[in-house]
Parts: sequence; C-alpha cells; structure tokens
Amino acid sequence: MDRHVKLGGMNTPEKLFHTLLGLGDDWEITELEFDKDSGEVRLRIHELSGLLSQQRCPDDGDKTDFYDHGREREWRHLNVFEHKCYIQSRLPRMRCKTCGKIFQTKAPWEGLSLQFTAAFESMSLLLMREMPVKKAAEFIHETDTRLWRILARHVAMAYKQLDFSETTCVGVDELACRKGHNYVTIFADLVAKRVLYSVPGKDSSTWKAFVQELEKHSAKAAQIECVSMDMSGSFKKGVAETCPQAEVVFDKYDARLQLLAYQVLLGGLHKLPAA
Ligand SMILES: [Zn+2]
Repeated sequence: MDRHVKLGGMNTPEKLFHTLLGLGDDWEITELEFDKDSGEVRLRIHELSGLLSQQRCPDDGDKTDFYDHGREREWRHLNVFEHKCYIQSRLPRMRCKTCGKIFQTKAPWEGLSLQFTAAFESMSLLLMREMPVKKAAEFIHETDTRLWRILARHVAMAYKQLDFSETTCVGVDELACRKGHNYVTIFADLVAKRVLYSVPGKDSSTWKAFVQELEKHSAKAAQIECVSMDMSGSFKKGVAETCPQAEVVFDKYDARLQLLAYQVLLGGLHKLPAA
C-alpha cells in the first residue's frame, strides 16, 4: 500500500509552500508529500532557468554555463504543525566560461550547516539561548551533537567579525579540558570581560597563535599594555617573544579570567567532533 499521499490536485499546496518559503521566480516546488508512517513532510525543489542565467563566476565575475546537478541533499526545515519537514534538492553546478571553475549555486533556504535550513537554525539558536542544548534537542527531536554543530558554526561566523582593536589588558590561563593532559589556553580581555581566544596546548607557542589571531580582528601585539597570568615559564617566554612591551602581573587566581574560561569550557566547543 502506498503510504505517500500527494497533496492537492490543483497544485495549491505547492503554491502555498512556495510563497511561505519565499522562493521567488528562481525555484519551484516539484513535489510535496506527506509520509503517514513517519509523519514527515517532504518538499522537492528544483531551480528554474532564470536562476542559471544569473550565475557569475565567484573568482572573476564572468558568465557561466550549466554544468550538472550536485548530489541529492536534504535539509531539515521548520515543522509543519507538529510534523517534521524536509527540503530535498540537487543544486545546479555551473562552469565559468572564462576560467573553467566549477561551483555550486546557493539555495535561498540554506543555513550554515549542511543538514538544516537557515530558518531551522534560527529557531534552534533561539531555543539554545533559553534552555540547555540537550533540552532544546529533545524539544525539536534532534540530537544534541547536531545542535552543538549549529551553535559552533554560528559562533565561528560571529567570532570572525569581532573587533579587538580596543584590547589593552589581557589575562591568560591554561585549563585541563579533559581528564589527563589535554590543555586549552584561554586569552581574555580583562576590561571588556570577554574571551578573546582559546587554543589547544599551554606552551609559549600559544602566544604566537594569539598574536596571529589579534591581527585577524583589527588588533596587534604592540597594543597590549598589561598581561595577567600565573608564574608559568612558558607564558613568560611567550609574552617576552610576542609582547615585550607589556607589563606582566602575576595573579594566579584572577577570578574574572577563571569565570570567563569556565564559560568557554562549559560551552563545550572544544569537545565537538568534526562535522
Ligand atoms: Zn571564472
């Protein structure tokens, strides 16, 4: 017995979903089905020719030709009432007429994760702000690992845009992030009271990595006037090599830094498996 029910002979449900998803003139819903067994709604979306003619090479901006369709993909979208909803598509790939580069077109519903739409990610982030990740995962019937990945991707994107140009006082400490000898070194802005950077390890090379990171955020080593840290020889060496102008204050129990560092660890971002 066929458990897949096609919705609507007049195409009205497709038109309704097309409007709700804001697909515009470049995409069409070619299939809409409700699986009674799984209780899941699936939308199949295909591009229209207008989308292809607008595509330009990301490297040189030149015109492109259609190349082929990429692999079958599926994104989880917001529920339809209480039913899980998925978008399925094979996104078109284009080839530059000038340089031959092959690239995949972007779909308007894509989030930062491979498996979720942007709308689903927004809703997940809202939930994770209000409750523990595990609870949020239960609420929306996802695994907490997948939600952590959504969070990590959005944190990484937001982090890239941070400006450290006003940072002058830095606190640094190492923390064991798991049982054994896995350490993470945390750098914090003691005035703004925020974490600037964290990096695996606890030797002097962590300072080189920190200084490289500063440069990605409109800052430089020369602006660091004060460093608070414990008596670690490797940190002393790191500061001497990278920020020799900074005044060093030895303060093993800097409460503000500890608090910030634990926030990072509680975030669990270092525990994430590769996506
Ligand atoms: Zn090109």
